[in-house]
Parts: sequence; C-alpha cells; structure tokens
Amino acid sequence: MGAPQTYDIFIIGGGINGCGIARDAAGRGFSVGLAEMNDLGSGTSSGSTKLIHGGLRYLEHYEFRLVREALMEREVLWRNAPHIIWPMRFVLPYAKGLRPAWLIRLGLFLYDHIGGRKLLPATRTLDMRRDPAGKPLKPLFAKAFEYSDGWVNDARLVVLNARDAADRGADIRTRTRVIAARRENGLWALLLEDQRTGKVEEMHTRLLINATGPWVDHVLSDVVGKPGVHNVRLVQGSHIVVRKKFADPHAYFFQNKDGRIIFAIPYEEDFTLIGTTDRDFDGDPHDVRISEAETEYLCAAASEYFAEPVRHDDIVWTYSAVRPLYDDGASKAQEATRDYVLKADADAGAPLINAFGGKITTYRRLSESMLEKIETHLGKRGKPWTADAPLPGGDFFATGFAAEAAKLQRDYPFLSSALSRRLIRLYGTRARALLGNAARLEDLGRDFGAELHETEIRYLMQHEWAETAEDILWRRTKRGLHMTPDQVTVLEDFLQSADTGRHNAAAE
Ligand SMILES: Cc1cc2nc3c(=O)[nH]c(=O)nc-3n(C[C@H](O)[C@H](O)[C@H](O)COP(=O)(O)OP(=O)(O)OC[C@H]3O[C@@H](n4cnc5c(N)ncnc54)[C@H](O)[C@@H]3O)c2cc1C
Repeated sequence: MGAPQTYDIFIIGGGINGCGIARDAAGRGFSVGLAEMNDLGSGTSSGSTKLIHGGLRYLEHYEFRLVREALMEREVLWRNAPHIIWPMRFVLPYAKGLRPAWLIRLGLFLYDHIGGRKLLPATRTLDMRRDPAGKPLKPLFAKAFEYSDGWVNDARLVVLNARDAADRGADIRTRTRVIAARRENGLWALLLEDQRTGKVEEMHTRLLINATGPWVDHVLSDVVGKPGVHNVRLVQGSHIVVRKKFADPHAYFFQNKDGRIIFAIPYEEDFTLIGTTDRDFDGDPHDVRISEAETEYLCAAASEYFAEPVRHDDIVWTYSAVRPLYDDGASKAQEATRDYVLKADADAGAPLINAFGGKITTYRRLSESMLEKIETHLGKRGKPWTADAPLPGGDFFATGFAAEAAKLQRDYPFLSSALSRRLIRLYGTRARALLGNAARLEDLGRDFGAELHETEIRYLMQHEWAETAEDILWRRTKRGLHMTPDQVTVLEDFLQSADTGRHNAAAE
C-alpha cells in the first residue's frame, strides 16, 4: 500500500455547497477531494422549493444583505445554466386582513430595484377578474401583484457542479462517508468508508471543509471530535405534488392567516408543487418525512385560494428536507436567518472551515467567500471565475431554450418534441453527447417507461454518478412521477443485473 493521497482541500458533503466549493476551488488550480456519504444532492439540496429567489419574505426580517446578494444571483445563475434554471412569474393575490398592499408594493419595489435586474421583467399589478391568473382562484381576490424570480432543478444543479469540478480535476467520491478526521503533522488525516463495500481508506489534506448542511454539527462532534457544539437549527420543510391545478406557466405566492406563505408552482409539465412548511426537527435528516399535520396544513392553505380544493387524494408525491439554519437565537423557525456563515478553526494546526446555513440561490457566492477564506490559509491561486462560466450543457443563450430543443429535434428527427425538450431541460447541449450517433429511436435501447431509455441510464451512470433507481428517477430526472411501480421494478432489476458501465472518470 502506498502513502495516503494528500489534497490541498478536502470537502465533506456533496450537496450544493460542497459541490459549488469543489468546482470553484478546482477551477483555481487547487487539488480537491470531496466525499458524499450517499448520492450527490440526496440531503437538503434536492428537497428545496427550487426557487432562485431574493426571498421577498426575508425583507420583513430586514435581511437586506442576503436579499440583495440573492437577487443579483438570479440572472447570473440563469445565464450560466439556462437549461436547468429559468425565469418564472409569481402571482401574489392581495387578500384583505393580511399584509397591507403598500407593504407588498414596497417590498416588490425593492425587489425590482436592488437586485441588478436586466432580463427579468418588472412587477405589475393584475386585475384578477380579467387576468387568466385569476381563473383557477376563488373569486375573492380582485387584485394581485405579479413579479419575477427564478426556478431551478435543484438536484441537477448539484450534479452539474460536481461534473464540472471533476472535469477540472476534482476527485468526487459518492457513497463515501468520512468517519474520522484528526490533525496530524500539520495536515488532516481522514478515514473514508465506502458505503457499498465497507472498505476504509486514509486520505490527507492541508485544509478541511465541513459542508454537510444539516449534519454540520454532527460531523463536528462525531467526526472531528468536538462534542457539544450547536451552530445550526434544524427546520423541516415539506412539499406536496398534485395533478396540475392550473394551465399557465406562472406560479402563485399565497399568504396564510398564520403569517406564513406557501408557493404553488407548475411542476414537471403535468403537476403542481405546493409548499413549504416550517417546523423544528430533531433526528437524522435522511429520515425526514412529511407528517399528517403538514399534509393537512398544505391542503388547507392552498384550498383557501384555489377554487377547486386540494385534497389528500390529489397528492401524487411528497418530499421533505431539513434546513440547516445558522442559529442566531431567533425564537420561531420562520424567523431564523437564511444567510450563511463561514467559520474557520485554524488555531490548532491544519485549518477546518465550516459552512453554516445558506440557500441554493447563494451557493455560488458562498463558494466564492469560502475560496477567499481558503486562500488566506493556502495562498492565492486565482481570481473568482464562476460568474461567467456556464455549467455543463449550459453554453447557450439564457433565452435560447426553445431554439435549442428545436435544433436537437432537427438533428435527431426521431425524437418526439416532448423528449427533445426534456433532454435539453436536463442536459442542455450535452444532450448530444448522450444521444451520440443514434439515428432511430431503437438506437436508444430499451424504453423503461415514460421515454426513459437505456442510453440515458448509461449516460447517467457513466457521467453523473447515478447508481440506483432512486438516483435516476428522483434526482437526475423526475421520471419517477411518470412511471408505474412495475416499471420501477424492471428498472431496478436491470440496474442489478446489467453491466451499466459506471466509471465516472475524474475528468472527461
Ligand atoms: C423545505 C426547504 C425549501 C427550501 N427552498 C429553497 C429555495 O426555494 N431556494 C433556495 O435558494 N434555497 C432553498 N432551501 C435551502 C437550500 O435547500 C439549502 O440551504 C441547501 O440545499 C443546503 O445545501 P448544503 O450543501 O449545505 O446541504 P445538503 O444538501 O444537505 O448537503 C450536505 C451533504 O453532506 C452529506 N454528509 C453528511 N455527513 C457526511 C459525512 N460524514 N461524510 C460524507 N458526507 C456527509 C449528506 O449526505 C448531504 O448530502 C430550502 C430548504 C428546505 C429544507
């Protein structure tokens, strides 16, 4: 056995923050390792409301720094990943007895003016008796405000950051748990356990990053050996997915009588996504599940607005995740700050930097701030570069999605328009690498249901670290929403038996 490998930087956690930091650092020329104990994005980063947003509600808590930074990120991220991120209009019905119209207008004025908006359209007022947005709602709402924010396929944002990091030389290991970390001779010595085989391997790194989201305190106490820490407050949020409640491509922002808000968002062509809830959580974040009370709450809150009520029977899928909110001592879950805090611990030798809190929307800025901290310890390597660097497959115009989908269908005329749109939405310009020389639909191999073909599965296993049916059906794609239990079983059997060619070469 040779000496353990030594990295400049080792990152624990393959959520959006870990993968974003890995990408930025690898692009500056650092040698980077990353371990994710499960699948990429399997923690909080695939369970969000999927908004690239300033957070209108955070203005009420005076979080101006966060809101401004997040607003500025909307167009930066959209430009760099126009396949998985796109603008969305949100309709906020005005309801008597809740927030006054002047307060909403003030919030939206700030929203329109402090965030470097260039492509996104500005706020406008709607007459809900005439506007199509009024149609699916009860006739109680005469007026609404319509404003812009962004939508993201959160799980794919994680994987594309990991893919780009690996393409730039990072060593991304999934299903690999960091079980111990100790300082030794000016370095960190880490023990990594392969979750498939149980094999333990030692690695060294000059600097360690703890980007484990809701596990951040757990890693500090159980892996690094700092018992009794309490830096984050864990807050559960759940969503329900129901059959489409409205036809338009806009989303709704509903205020509830308890002061909270929920969104109803068009989802995966045929569905509406409704969420979220806010309740304190303790337990293992991987075991988080929607409760009966949350389901009731979401159905009741949406039914206050939709003309046709949302019932239990309408629900086709639910998901839950745990927010790791930096604990600033706020009394209520919804009042805790959504901002991120980076804290370095370098007194006792090799540095450790912990990331607490953060949003999907601000992951790129969090990564830049992390690199600033890293470079104070390891020396400067490069300038910030990610603001103008497309993510894999995102090298086309921000507004060019429809044209890309049409171009793909022209070049591969056997694709249905739904499939070419879906492939561009997931893979952007890399859809061509996936399709290769295919000249007929049969060349894509077996269809496992809902136009999920063997070629796509192999691509996901070879280039995107997918291993299980869940990785493929619920994170890399959302085909799970469209497939029957029998079709899922057939896919599981195929994954067990086939030589699916998983290799995930470090760089392509
Ligand atoms: C309900 C809800 C809605 C949200 N909505 C939005 C939204 O609309 N917009 C927005 O911008 N933000 C939103 N957020 C916030 C956002 O989702 C999170 O802030 C973000 O995903 C956190 O990412 P992370 O990388 O820090 O954590 P995670 O994604 O949880 O990643 C941490 C990873 O570390 C891994 N890990 C833990 N311990 C170990 C170990 N010992 N070894 C190896 N790996 C380990 C875990 O498996 C996990 O995958 C929402 C959050 C929730 C919960």
